[in-house]
Amino acid sequence: MPSPLLQSKLLRTEKPNLEMEVEIPIWQQEIKTAFRSADELCRFLNVDLDEMGISAAAAKQFPLFVPRGFASRMESGNSTDPLLRQVLNVAQEEVVDAQFKVDPVGESQADLAPGLLQKYAGRALLIVTGVCAVHCRYCFRRHFPYQSFQQIGAAAGRWQPALDAVRSDESIHELLLSGGDPLVLTDDLLTELITMLENIPHLKRLRIHTRTPIVIPSRVTEALVNRLVSSRLAVWFVVHANHGNELGTEVLDSLNRLIAAGIPVLNQTVLLKGVNDSCEALEELFTKLADASVLPYYLHQLDRVAGAAHFEVPIEIGKQLIAQLRTRLPGYAVPRYVQERPGELAKTILG
Ligand SMILES: *Cc1c(COP(=O)(O)O)cnc(C)c1O
Ligand code: SF4
Repeated sequence: MPSPLLQSKLLRTEKPNLEMEVEIPIWQQEIKTAFRSADELCRFLNVDLDEMGISAAAAKQFPLFVPRGFASRMESGNSTDPLLRQVLNVAQEEVVDAQFKVDPVGESQADLAPGLLQKYAGRALLIVTGVCAVHCRYCFRRHFPYQSFQQIGAAAGRWQPALDAVRSDESIHELLLSGGDPLVLTDDLLTELITMLENIPHLKRLRIHTRTPIVIPSRVTEALVNRLVSSRLAVWFVVHANHGNELGTEVLDSLNRLIAAGIPVLNQTVLLKGVNDSCEALEELFTKLADASVLPYYLHQLDRVAGAAHFEVPIEIGKQLIAQLRTRLPGYAVPRYVQERPGELAKTILG
């Protein structure tokens, strides 16, 4: 996962001279000015750091990283804020539970090439970078050995082995860009990658899995949208929001820029204890998404990653929540409740 090392590399790719400084896009400035410690974030939110049970060891394994725009959607003074809980490094992460592992979904066994995973027919997933626009404490890739093959800012040539593998397998019709988060790449680098993908004749669809439009909505630039729309590939977006409070006006505007350009946007949510494990919270989230023409695609059962045990909601409760939501929302606004199980041919549908 984005180690401090990777994050600092990201920043070092910026031009150092002042003249260029003013030209840095707003979204990159948001990455630069993000909160990087519990201390800073708690001070900003007027919550008492000592009450929060912060863990330095947890931050060492996976540093806190929260852009200010996302933090501004948290409620000042609320130590149990559902957005804060997703990003704060707390002592509960140190609890050791043998059921919660470093590689919970068996990704290390699914490599086609460095950074390229295939678990399911017809589609492969490219980890384009280890960097994200926010660090989510429950992330199943928080222990992923990104450093072994990924560095943002490096030449696009690093994707070559993965692209060669896609090119040589004509059964792959869809490529998922994931990470980390593909939208922390600059437009230039993304454009280079997309162009290489467009040159693989059997690829039909490009799917971008990203939390950046939710965290840093200014990332959805006109240039990015134009590049995607001009692609010969069918482009699909899958964003990641877990709580209605994440969907502020700027976020809804950024999603609308994609949708208005004809790009379908789906959302995935992770079911998280203390964040969205109530019918009311999920109903609000899915209603806001539906109102924004974003389809609630998946509700994920938490992957059992080491350090995230305190976020787990029992599957039985998840099924009850989905059943209740079916009585309250239109069918399309209730996502499939799924679990990732190593070795299965598709995600397992729980409800
Ligand atoms: C979840 C996932 C996909 C996408 O699955 P869909 O059901 O098509 O959304 C593809 N590859 C990997 C490795 C995945 O984990
Ligand atoms: S944005 Fe996605 S990949 Fe990055 S830390 Fe959050 S859940 Fe993990």
